[in-house]
Amino acid sequence: MKTPVPDYLDEIRTLCDAGEDGTLADYIPELAAVDPERFALAACMRDGVVYATGDADVEFTIQSMSKPFVYALALRDRGIDAVLAKVAVEPSGDAFNEISLEDSTGRPDNPMINIGALTTHALVGRPGTGEFDRDLIISAGLSAFAGRPLGFDDEVYRSEIETAFRNRAMANLVRATEIITDDPDEIVRGYTRQCAYRVTVRDLAVMAMTLATGGVNPVTGQRVVTPRVCRQVLSVMATCGMYDAAGDWMSTVGIPAKSGVSGGIFGALPGQLGLAAFSPRLDKHGHSVEGVRTFERLSRDMDLHLMNVDGADVEVVRSAVTDDEGGRRFRLQGPMTFATAELVLRQFEEIPAGPQTVTVDLEHVSTVNHTARRMLIEGMRRLGLDGHEVVLVDPERRLPDPGLSSPAPAGR
Ligand code: GLU
Repeated sequence: MKTPVPDYLDEIRTLCDAGEDGTLADYIPELAAVDPERFALAACMRDGVVYATGDADVEFTIQSMSKPFVYALALRDRGIDAVLAKVAVEPSGDAFNEISLEDSTGRPDNPMINIGALTTHALVGRPGTGEFDRDLIISAGLSAFAGRPLGFDDEVYRSEIETAFRNRAMANLVRATEIITDDPDEIVRGYTRQCAYRVTVRDLAVMAMTLATGGVNPVTGQRVVTPRVCRQVLSVMATCGMYDAAGDWMSTVGIPAKSGVSGGIFGALPGQLGLAAFSPRLDKHGHSVEGVRTFERLSRDMDLHLMNVDGADVEVVRSAVTDDEGGRRFRLQGPMTFATAELVLRQFEEIPAGPQTVTVDLEHVSTVNHTARRMLIEGMRRLGLDGHEVVLVDPERRLPDPGLSSPAPAGR
């Protein structure tokens, strides 16, 4: 059998063809020279398998899609508090190139708009890192996210730097208010270079999946950043990634995402997949017209919305039986989280104190998160204090043996 996923992605691409809708970004002269008909789509799975369709090997500049990754590098290098002291995490509701600053502190509203991204750029590396070293750190960091050394587009860089009057004004503004202390020209050059790395949709899908796995590149296995950094980046992408269309995007597509004026959009669905689309014609917000259509369609067809409530109706306690001696056996199932473990504890609470055996069977439990683990351990400890013999059936050894008896055999 051949998996139908590639055929499905091909079909999506055909269905989301928007003809000649939208316009090329022309404020960066070199971007207006691309082939507007390009259209590519890629999806990276948790194990690093990448499905791709269309012009999937065509390179384009990463532009604003570099912002979440460079934010991740700054968080890694300076720590979350130090970065938050300089750049807030509030959606601005404004376009990407507006001067959106918090009234009370003068901090840029968020790291996804240009003024915030210029500031974030200055926070990469240890304090005192110079322009050259910062470039090296960013080049290595973006390449680690992609799992291959990314090339650089000198023509796009030159084209953009010659016309970067607005970004220069913004860098000077944050320098004047001492949000940054570096030379603003250096920051504009560095930021513009960060936007000129070349990627394909395959690269972006892998980069997205690296965020979605909690920081480990699914292809190379390299840990690039911590899960806490990924959580911060994904939160900011979810609220601010799509600029003044962020609320609309979150309610219709529901995938943390970032777009760039080159026509790319990538999205990272935590724990599930990394997606990327590329098509150069843009809508009035500066997002790829076909890219937006593609994400809307994928989200709808494949239930990818972050707020989808799946599996909430699964019974946590698959069965609870009492044997002839009054012993109880609880067979649990599904993911163990705070909410599901709480239901289990309430069932434990109903067992009267006594010397009976209580068997807790985790064979059908898919995952046990940190909180659920602590709750179940404490529940079993309390059953022990009530005089019960607690037997844990845990073939994958996700909880410590309650130590009150030897584990029962998994079979029944
Ligand atoms: N390099 C672009 C700029 O700073 C990025 C904007 C974008 O991709 O949205 O204007």
